[in-house]
Amino acid sequence: MNWAAARDAMVRDQLETRHICDPRVLQAMRSIPRHLFVPPDLQRHAYEDRALAIGYEQTISQPYMVASMLQWLGLKGHEKVLEIGTGGGYQAAVLGQLARQVFSLEIIPELARRSRELLQTLQVTNVQVVTGDGSGGYPAESPYDAIVVAAASPEASSRLKNQLTDGGRLVLPVNDGSECVLTVVTRNGTHFDEKRYGRCAFVPLRGLYGVASDS
Ligand code: SAH
Repeated sequence: MNWAAARDAMVRDQLETRHICDPRVLQAMRSIPRHLFVPPDLQRHAYEDRALAIGYEQTISQPYMVASMLQWLGLKGHEKVLEIGTGGGYQAAVLGQLARQVFSLEIIPELARRSRELLQTLQVTNVQVVTGDGSGGYPAESPYDAIVVAAASPEASSRLKNQLTDGGRLVLPVNDGSECVLTVVTRNGTHFDEKRYGRCAFVPLRGLYGVASDS
């Protein structure tokens, strides 16, 4: 399998044809070896237009969904970013190419450990994987220029919004109980502009402020 050719085809056929035009996002997705972030028996499907199971009932998001969320963040390269839901670490690795510094929270310790190791192997040095519940953000390192949530959340909470810098962006799937909608929040001083985009499908956000309570 020619992985680089598979990545080029993924970018050309799944992203460029669907309004992903940020050259930095396209380049990052051309370079990160997505097949290394999926279980060995699924590697040959890694560049297909769909999400894949990564164990622990979790998934690696569809390439288009990753690109779409990251394009909405509008990163230039100088930002500090928070990701909630590391999973296998794929989106975190892409983020590492788009921003200066990335903190990524994962609630399942085994997944956090695995992605931390993989990112280290790939010499991704500006992404720090933190084991823990990110449903309330990660105040310890706030504020962030951008926050991206990779699990369906009950709302765009003020808890998260208040961890944004002025002008900062929060991108997350919001599930109001009937449907899951990709939502983009931009901070403007004390005002938060909230826009809803297309339907999407994500595993539920767990933890204290999540939808699927662990208690
Ligand atoms: N970004 C990943 C996909 C993540 S799937 C990728 O690129 O492959 C969503 C992940 O969110 C799962 O691994 C799940 O365990 C994690 N998650 C769910 N609730 C969480 C919470 N409250 N805090 C941190 N991680 C959470």
